[in-house]
Amino acid sequence: MESIVCKFGGSSVANAKQIKKVTEIIKANLNRKYVVVSAPGKDEQDSEKVTDHLFNIAKAGNHFKSKKKNITGEESYNAVIQKFTRLINDLGIDGEDILQDLSNDLKKILPDPQKNDFFASRGEHYNAKVISRYFNKVGIASELALPEDIGFIVSEDFNNAKVVPVTYKNISSLSEKSGVIVIPGYYGITEKGDIAVFSRGGSDLTGGEVAYAMNASLYENWTDTDGVFQIDPRLIPDAEVIPRLTYKEIRLLSSKGFNVFHFDAMVNCKKRHIPINIKNTNNPATPGTLIVSERIPEETVVGIARLDDIAYLYVEKDGAGETIGFVNDLLRIMKDFGIETYHYPTDKDDVSIIFKQADLKGYEDDLKDTIQARLNPDNIELNYNITMLSPVGIGMKDQPGVIAVASTALKEKNINIEIIDQGPAQISFHFGVHKYHADMALKALYEALCRKGL
Ligand code: ASP
Repeated sequence: MESIVCKFGGSSVANAKQIKKVTEIIKANLNRKYVVVSAPGKDEQDSEKVTDHLFNIAKAGNHFKSKKKNITGEESYNAVIQKFTRLINDLGIDGEDILQDLSNDLKKILPDPQKNDFFASRGEHYNAKVISRYFNKVGIASELALPEDIGFIVSEDFNNAKVVPVTYKNISSLSEKSGVIVIPGYYGITEKGDIAVFSRGGSDLTGGEVAYAMNASLYENWTDTDGVFQIDPRLIPDAEVIPRLTYKEIRLLSSKGFNVFHFDAMVNCKKRHIPINIKNTNNPATPGTLIVSERIPEETVVGIARLDDIAYLYVEKDGAGETIGFVNDLLRIMKDFGIETYHYPTDKDDVSIIFKQADLKGYEDDLKDTIQARLNPDNIELNYNITMLSPVGIGMKDQPGVIAVASTALKEKNINIEIIDQGPAQISFHFGVHKYHADMALKALYEALCRKGL
């Protein structure tokens, strides 16, 4: 039998109304056997996610303080209890025990960092209990599979845990369970028995790992948009949803500012060629975006990603071109400063390195001094406020003239291209333009490359 893993994100399970939509989705296809759920997200009643409230309780108000919000730990505690009380009442399930256990958990005294992760995991933990109970109430036979019970083992990297391989064997026994299996996302258990959470958005990862372990026929990732758009629809309201993308394309799009879903979630699905379908809980009839290993492109450029607030470092030194290891030494300095770097356009005696400007904040002079001391260049410049625009598409390979069309579109708007870099797989290229021109440039590229087609 076909088996589908579905993951429902925070907005899909934010309140009873949303959970009822999830129920209809499950009822519509009984192959949807494994259901991974997030903690309740934001809704009209609460403008914060339950997970953020939970971090705030664990950190006695400092989680929100660091985001310049004034919500105390106690207020967060009340918000979480109220959220689950509303869920239970509005779904009409019996949940006194759930509320009692939740309240006890949130009063537990634990050392750091275990406390943080244990508290953060409670949103998924109790939401799964609520949802499984509701499924049974409305006639969908359901069993709960908690990570601590099924051997979902993760590393001890608190707040950034990784799945340990034995997990795949352990959870493959889920196939023996009957009915629809509800699994809380975002956390696992360490060998020592502590709860540890993945990085934020980590329920996607749980879904991907379950899909891999069960060798699922499909991984459905249910969210609140119709899929992956060609371009940010806030800028181009009539941008279309991309029907099919390869793993490689989504990777290029998501690493460049497309906030799609947790990349780690894809890695194992890719190994087993499990397609991932990004779908909208609020509009389940639309097909969404299907991510696959291979596809035959009908278009040249499938989407354009955007990354704002980029800086580039420019270093020039006579003879650098013949100095073995010059670029390596420069990159080593960036590493020492903990700066993630993106592109490296180079020429004979000059190199530039592209990175997020926020990563350098406050260290500009230190970086320049270090480069001067270690590499003794003739010139160092730091340039800010660049936006990288990156057209992506496997149809671009072996297609002449794509960059010509793109650069002509910018020329017609009198926009200067400050950086150009072509991805080595020839399925993407990157233009850096000044922030001031970014919106106009993106629109022009969209018109020329996506709307008109090539
Ligand atoms: N609830 C967690 C978060 O808000 C994990 C998730 O929703 O995927 O990051």
